[in-house]
Order: sequence, then C-alpha cells, then structure tokens
Amino acid sequence: MTSNGSSAPNMPEIKFTKLFINGAFVDSISGKTFETRDPRTGEVIAHIAEGDKEDIDLAVKAAREAFDNGKWPRKSGFERGRILMKLADLIDEHTEELASLESLDSGKLFHLNKMLDVPSTADSIRYYAGAADKIHGETSKCSREFHGYTLKEPVGVVGLIIPWNFPSIMFFAKAAPALAAGCTVIVKPAEQTPLTALYYAKLAKEAGIPDGVLNVVTGFGSTAGAALSSHMNVDAISFTGSTEVGRLVMEASARSNLKPVSLELGGKSPLIIFNDADVNMAVDIAKLAVFYNKGEICIAGSRVFVQEGIYDEFIKKIDESLKDWVVGDPFDSNVHQGPQVDKKQFEKVLRYIESGKRDGATLLTGGKACGKKGYYIEPTIFTDVKEDMLIAREEIFGPVMSLMKFKTIEEAIEKANNTIYGLAAGIVTNDLNIANRVSRSIRAGMIWINCYTAFDRDCPYGGYKMSGFGRELGLHALENYLQVKSVITPIYDSPWL
Ligand code: ADP
Repeated sequence: MTSNGSSAPNMPEIKFTKLFINGAFVDSISGKTFETRDPRTGEVIAHIAEGDKEDIDLAVKAAREAFDNGKWPRKSGFERGRILMKLADLIDEHTEELASLESLDSGKLFHLNKMLDVPSTADSIRYYAGAADKIHGETSKCSREFHGYTLKEPVGVVGLIIPWNFPSIMFFAKAAPALAAGCTVIVKPAEQTPLTALYYAKLAKEAGIPDGVLNVVTGFGSTAGAALSSHMNVDAISFTGSTEVGRLVMEASARSNLKPVSLELGGKSPLIIFNDADVNMAVDIAKLAVFYNKGEICIAGSRVFVQEGIYDEFIKKIDESLKDWVVGDPFDSNVHQGPQVDKKQFEKVLRYIESGKRDGATLLTGGKACGKKGYYIEPTIFTDVKEDMLIAREEIFGPVMSLMKFKTIEEAIEKANNTIYGLAAGIVTNDLNIANRVSRSIRAGMIWINCYTAFDRDCPYGGYKMSGFGRELGLHALENYLQVKSVITPIYDSPWL
C-alpha cells in the first residue's frame, strides 16, 4: 500500500522567495525569513521572506495608490480582460514548473496539479477575463419624474487570504474576479505553501498587470494575515480557511473599518448512499469524497451515511477497493495519496484517529502513519461511528472516513443536517424523487448527485451556516469585489412619465 520512493522527477528550481510589492520582489522590512518544508521528508526547501505589519502597510499603500490614481480600475473591462488572458496563457506555458512547485510545497499529486489544478487556474482567469467587460448595472424607471440607474464599481483595495490545500486554485478563485472587477489586491498565501503564489506574481507582471495592482505578502496568519484583515485602508477581505480564523477575520473587520468580508470556512459534509445505488459507483464516490487531496479539502464528505440494505456490502467493497490504494511520493504517477501538508496537520489527523479508537468506533482499515519519513497517513475508515463522537462532528482535514448506517430518508436528512457546517453534501441514488427531495432538504451550499468534488468555474460555491458566506466561482464571485451605486437624475417635461 505504501510507495515511499524518494525519486522525484521534475524537481523545480525555487526562483522567487521575496515579497512582491509594487511590482518588485523585496526583502521583508525586518529582514526575517521563514522555512517552507517538503512534506515528503520534513526537510527545509526554501527560506521565504516573512512579511509582517510594516510590509502589509507598504503593500496596502501601493495597492491604494494603484486603485485611487492608477490605470487598472480606469481601464475598460475589455482591456483588463486582455491582460488577464495574457496571464492565463503565461500560466499555461509554465504548467509543468508550477505543478511541481505546488507538489513540492504541499504534497499534492504532481500529475493532478499538472492536469487539473494549474490548467483550471488558467481557465478560471479566462472565465473572469471574459466577464470583465460584461459587468452591468440596471436602469430603473423611478416612481416619480426621475431616471435612475446603477453602476457596479470595484470595491477598492482587497485583501485575499489563501489556504494551503489548493494554493493555485484558491489564489485565482479570488484574484481573478477581483482583478476583473477593477480592484487592486494584496494576496497573503498560506505560510505552508508560498512558492506558487510568488511565481504567479512574476507572471502577472510579465502579462502587463501594472505595479501595485497585484501584491503578494508571504508570512504568518497571526501577523501578516491579521494586519491585512484589520487594516483601515483595505476595503474588503476574502478569506478561505478554518472557521476559527474566519471568526478572527470578521472580528478584525468589525474592530477596524467594517470592511465587508467573504468567508469560505470549514465543513463536515455528509455523503448519503441509498439502498438502490450501484454499490461499486458509491464506493468510488465515497473514496473521492474523503480521500481526494489526502482529505485536505473543505468539502470532504467525511460523514458517510449508508442505508441499511447495502451497508454490509458497501463496507466489504470499500475495504477491498483500498487494497491497491497507494500512499507515497506525490511525484510518482502511480500514487493515489501524498503526504499531509505539514507536521502540525499530520499530528492533528493522527490525534483524531486516536480519538475515534478511544471513543469505540470500529477501525475497518488504516489508522496509522506510514512511510519512514514525511507526513504520510493511511486512508482510514471507521465503522459503527456514533453521531456524538469527535470524528463525526469535527473537521479532520485528513484521509479519515466515518461510516454510519441509516434506515429511512427522514433519518438520513436529519442526520445529514445535524452539524454546525453547511458547505456541501453528496447523494448517491438512482431514484429521482429521493435525489430531489434530499437535495432540497439539506442545508448546504453545494449538492452533488451521483458524483462528488465536481466543481465547475460556472457553478457558484460557498457555505451555509458556520461554513461561511459569500460565493466563489461563477459570476456570483464578482459580487464580492463590486459595490452598487445608484445615480438619479430628474427628467423634465417627458410625455412618457
Ligand atoms: P488551517 O487552520 O487549516 O491551517 P487557517 O485558517 O489557519 O487554516 O489558515 C488559512 C489562511 O489564514 C492562511 O493564509 C493563514 O496564514 C491565514 N490566517 C491564520 N490566522 C490568521 C489571522 N488571525 N488573521 C488573518 N489570517 C490568518
């Protein structure tokens, strides 16, 4: 099950390690750096400039100037779109290098980064490039002798706080609509995965994005991230990360200038498999729902509810199917699952596994770390899980599935909704009525029927309940970076009033 070969083709050169402010790579003011590590070995791969409050101040100043007096917000949407298209093309030209940097930094599978994460990052930039000249207001025929219309204007200087699990995709899920809308941005990548973000900064400059429009400040959340979310000159924040930190970001906004925030937070999503489902398909969907990206994905369908008629068969088949599941070096194309991102996450996931054992869940498979070094964990499945156990309630962010049995549709709906979160849910059934009824009854922002993890740049994505608010992807994402202005003017002597 383990392939922990150290062979690493396509090892990238690390060219960019400094902050990117006002169109130039610069050291942090303090001169401090932090280490980013290879999750395959735990070894240091680079020292990265550690931005703090003073560096955020500089980046905000540059972004403020670029917004208040610069060309970017004043260009036509069409022109902004052309530059963004160029950036997407440059990303395509560097796919291999970006994909390998991403794997090295995060432990994500190289072949998926190359096939999916990096190309879809470029395509999502193209999507918003195409939307940049289609941002329209409305006209209103006012109730009195007035004519009214609305303008949709860029919100201004925006702080984008990025998580480590999808460093490329999340960078541009936020930056692409923000830039298309005419905003200027300060990106704060996660401290675990700064490498691709700095590379994107360099490509953005090459594409012709003016200095000050896109800034990248690497550093820690509690310093650089907090300075950004509490900054008086930042007009909006878009954050993806844990619910706990999302709360801090919102508090920081409340205590500073009341900037609007959009939050994409944690989840504990249900996957509900009904008696009539094709069990083989259900097994594949369940593995995708929980083990994709080593479980480091906020929509992970980590609570798997299986109807009693197929429960035993499902357990047997999923157990068998994991026999040829390979955990190992993310650069090896035969590997299904790479290492967890860092030591902290690795230890956290193992603690949850121990709590499952302690609480009396039955360990079907996995349950421990694997490999001689690095942060590898076996895909782990618990059966006989009770809803009040920690592993059924809290977001684990690792390859851990909690299996539970149910009898009726009503029971499935009730159990699925029994969570503080509401990010996503999956339904596996061939019965259209069940699919329709359940999808309308689940309080979550994304429902997948007979599939999971199926994102599309045109389908909005975001949370209900404590999974956050605001939507990413689709044209909805633009709303996070726009504000509406009404303009009203009198109309005299019109015969049509
Ligand atoms: P996780 O707990 O999964 O590591 P976090 O929510 O801590 O995720 O991190 C997501 C992003 O939020 C990272 O870029 C991180 O640096 C940043 N961050 C962490 N703490 C804060 C904070 N207090 N204020 C702003 N950003 C923060």
